[in-house]
Amino acid sequence: MNNETLIPQAAVVEEIRQDTPDVKTFRVLTREGKKPFDHMPGQCAMVSLPGVGEGMFSITSSPTNTAFMEFSIKKCGHLTNWLHMLEPGMEVTVRGPYGRPFPVEGELLGRDLLFIAGGIGLAPLRSVINYVRAPRTIWWTTPRSWTSGPPPRDLR
Ligand SMILES: Cc1cc2nc3c(=O)[nH]c(=O)nc-3n(C[C@H](O)[C@H](O)[C@H](O)COP(=O)(O)OP(=O)(O)OC[C@H]3O[C@@H](n4cnc5c(N)ncnc54)[C@H](O)[C@@H]3O)c2cc1C
Repeated sequence: MNNETLIPQAAVVEEIRQDTPDVKTFRVLTREGKKPFDHMPGQCAMVSLPGVGEGMFSITSSPTNTAFMEFSIKKCGHLTNWLHMLEPGMEVTVRGPYGRPFPVEGELLGRDLLFIAGGIGLAPLRSVINYVRAPRTIWWTTPRSWTSGPPPRDLR
């Protein structure tokens, strides 16, 4: 961990999607319109609403998405009730990344993967799922995959 991971950065909530009655996905960018920092699948960040509180949340966007960062947050208490009241254009702070990522470039590379998750437990896996689905040559070289042409429609 270096010092930069400890420093909160202002992040503008660009878009909010209501995924389920109690889960919203927040897309955030720096004030300069950039992704706040790089991460690997499975890593988390501390998201803060100054004056309210700070909590740890999985980064649910894939690292292959270099344009923005997303968090999927379940409304269940003090901080998350406030976060669910945010509107696009409002600001939070984010710092990170924290935690060990899934070994997507190590022992998982090129293997068949089965993802099982329930409820908000899907949050840390969404990043991995989208990472391995990203059209990169290495993931299309396993025996049952597609070495030529685009992947089938349901994998896009
Ligand atoms: C590594 C990691 C990753 C995470 N990733 C995500 C994620 O991607 N998305 C996500 O939604 N969450 C995630 N979480 C959980 C998230 O950090 C917490 O749910 C969040 O911080 C809750 O904050 P809160 O202030 O809204 O809830 P709190 O107010 O702290 O309440 C949390 C729970 O405690 C109960 N509670 C509160 N006060 C009391 C009391 N006095 N007596 C009894 N019960 C009480 C609440 O009802 C609620 O169920 C993650 C946590 C960790 C550790």
